[in-house]
Amino acid sequence: MSRFYSYKNASLVPYTPGEQPKALNVTKLNTNENPFPPSEKALAFAREHIRPLNLYPEIQCIDVRRKLAELHGVDADNIVLGNGSDELLNFAFMTFCDDKKQAAFPSISYGFYPVYADLNHVPYTEIPLREDFSVAPEDYFDLGKNIFIANPNAPTGLALTRAQVEEILKHNRDSVAVIDEAYVDFGGETCIPLIKDYDNLLVIQTFSKSRSMAGARLGFAAGDKALIDDLNTIKYSTNPYNVNSMTLALGLGVLLDEETTKANCRTVMDNRAYTTAALEELGFTVLPSCSNFIFTVSDRITSLELYTKLKERGVLIRRFDKAGIETWSRITIGTREQMDILLKNIREILEELP
Ligand code: PMP
Repeated sequence: MSRFYSYKNASLVPYTPGEQPKALNVTKLNTNENPFPPSEKALAFAREHIRPLNLYPEIQCIDVRRKLAELHGVDADNIVLGNGSDELLNFAFMTFCDDKKQAAFPSISYGFYPVYADLNHVPYTEIPLREDFSVAPEDYFDLGKNIFIANPNAPTGLALTRAQVEEILKHNRDSVAVIDEAYVDFGGETCIPLIKDYDNLLVIQTFSKSRSMAGARLGFAAGDKALIDDLNTIKYSTNPYNVNSMTLALGLGVLLDEETTKANCRTVMDNRAYTTAALEELGFTVLPSCSNFIFTVSDRITSLELYTKLKERGVLIRRFDKAGIETWSRITIGTREQMDILLKNIREILEELP
């Protein structure tokens, strides 16, 4: 730390992203990316419609917002875009939380929530999961705090139903509930339809997973117009041009090709079922996932050993040094070929065990 670093963040521990190796010759199953690139149709649209890059981006991002609004049956005024959903999560902490209105989230969830809370000096409560790793809705009733829930949750892949989220909303009329739906398109149930009835609901989604745009950085938040206006106050006070013109053009191209998005999600879900069955046959326990990853454990091999041996063989998966899940591995679902490489290597590693 330099002698110039502000005391305000002296104790901040940053988020540790999954490894992003420069080389592409690894089987990369560690950061929940989509194995399929954006479609040719979407890319061609982007090339044709990109705003000249000597100009600033269209600041309202209106075309993408209108298209998202149409897809979800809401108004463009209910939507704000972000530079990935991470930026919007940070905006949500900046906009709605402080020492008086604190935050609450599951103790095992997306590792960025406590970092954003610390960055914004927001005290927070971590609520334990049930023993089966599920989120217990009643634990979030009448907390008097703003709530952040990844649904489906990460890294477990387990999801609450829309009705369960609605119960949480009903019991927190005076707090904001941020539902982070990064993985919802792989088998979850979106809560966007509830924003009409609950002015305390903010749903955040990303184009990084189901829409194959992790490298382009695009996310959106949907909520009551007043919530979105508040987020815009913060956005316009930090980075009004937070989404660049290349990303806006590609985002619209991808939204105009929903068929590809849906087909890719179906393939990932099929590959998830295939991988789950194969791992179970090898003695692994696999949580029932609604995401593009699985969370799995084996009593034959530690997660550290599995991670290390797979890495030596050019396969990257993810594990977390966190109490309660330190024995588990999170594996992104890729193409069938990638899953076969994973499974072949796991079989060989198990066979070589003493
Ligand atoms: N929420 C969750 C639960 C995630 O796992 C991720 C991806 N790391 C994000 C949000 C952020 O995604 P992005 O910033 O790429 O939109």
